[in-house]
Amino acid sequence: SLGGAQRCLDEAVNYTKERKQFGKAISDFQNTQFMLADMATDLEASRALLYLAAAKVTEGAPDKTKFAAMAKRLATDNGSKIVNDALQLFGGYGYLQDYPIERFWRDLRVHSILEGTNQVMRMIVSREMLRQ
Ligand SMILES: Cc1cc2nc3c(=O)[nH]c(=O)nc-3n(C[C@H](O)[C@H](O)[C@H](O)COP(=O)(O)OP(=O)(O)OC[C@H]3O[C@@H](n4cnc5c(N)ncnc54)[C@H](O)[C@@H]3O)c2cc1C
Repeated sequence: SLGGAQRCLDEAVNYTKERKQFGKAISDFQNTQFMLADMATDLEASRALLYLAAAKVTEGAPDKTKFAAMAKRLATDNGSKIVNDALQLFGGYGYLQDYPIERFWRDLRVHSILEGTNQVMRMIVSREMLRQ
């Protein structure tokens, strides 16, 4: 999920520097810059929580289940959001098969369902919290 999101972010950075509208690259618009900044921030936050959860699983920490569920939920929701924003930055071309984004949109979306839906991840997190 995060690998696909990283690829979409890289594609969006390259595309917005090349695509020109109203006489300038769309990367010159502040809205584009804000979207790219949020995409990168959400991606790194997801990656950091994933590494923390992986470390807890490796060391057999008592809260490893809660952190694994938190990491899965955040990484997959953010993956969907990042590819959705990338598609928006590509405009109409994002929807066409000429560019890779529409394929990533479908591929990343399913991760909120696979391996336990994100509703079930939230149940696991809150169950662990309320048990303490
Ligand atoms: C492309 C793809 C590949 C797959 N590959 C595999 C595989 O290799 N191996 C495998 O075993 N499975 C696989 N699956 C199945 C996948 O794990 C299930 O689709 C997933 O666990 C959700 O189960 P479900 O489809 O029965 O949805 P349901 O359990 O029917 O859920 C439907 C909706 O109800 C919600 N819901 C269900 N129960 C609750 C609850 N208690 N509280 C709140 N909300 C709830 C869900 O979050 C979801 O939004 C695959 C699915 C897809 C789409």
